[in-house]
Amino acid sequence: MTNDNRENRKHTQRRKELVEGIRQKGIRDSAVLMAIEATPRHLFVDTALEKRAYEDTALPIGSGQTISQPYTVAAQTELLEVKKRAKILEIGTGSGYQAAILCYLGADVYSVERHDKLYQAAKQILNELGYRPTLKLGDGTLGWGAYAPYDGIVVTAGAPVVPEDLIQQLNIGGRLVVPVGSQKSQTMIRITRVSEDGYEEERLQNFKFVPLIGEKGWD
Ligand code: SAM
Repeated sequence: MTNDNRENRKHTQRRKELVEGIRQKGIRDSAVLMAIEATPRHLFVDTALEKRAYEDTALPIGSGQTISQPYTVAAQTELLEVKKRAKILEIGTGSGYQAAILCYLGADVYSVERHDKLYQAAKQILNELGYRPTLKLGDGTLGWGAYAPYDGIVVTAGAPVVPEDLIQQLNIGGRLVVPVGSQKSQTMIRITRVSEDGYEEERLQNFKFVPLIGEKGWD
């Protein structure tokens, strides 16, 4: 069965309703809303969860991890202010859904995941959808120095502190979007590199993410 066959009018309608809900929760960036409307989230979860794929909620994806709530994906993407051809690093590929949204927006996407099973599954579905992000299995708390600097870095797991390597890997004008706090609740932080050694920090809403585990994250 091809992905096209697995997409039907019901999915399209549910995505429209999902986007309307996200808009009402405050997401204004029309490109981000279009990306959510165009991206078949049901293909990023197990078929047993397909019916729930367009609820605005996080869902399990195996290895004790989750695909983020669509509102959260939209909020983080909006904060990145993605331009076409922008070089974006994602920490926590998970299902690959956030990477697909970034690819849809025309970014050059780099993404790191620490679980092999998730890395393999994300690679497969992203390829099937015709996207070619550069993926790596490893510890994203160290960033990905080989391709730095980035115009945007998004961390999709909750960090105890802002990982210093990620700040270093930002382009001037680049933005780091990272949830920071305890394992129970994190504040979304956006750091913009305004000059070689100048940064501006904004503290935004609270969220609840799975933990960022690694050398510069949780044990
Ligand atoms: N962006 C994902 C998506 O669209 O499905 C969300 C995935 S989930 C909320 C967070 C992911 O971060 C998990 O898959 C987890 O394994 C991964 N993760 C946690 N710590 C990591 C690290 N140090 N490096 C890379 N990935 C990490």
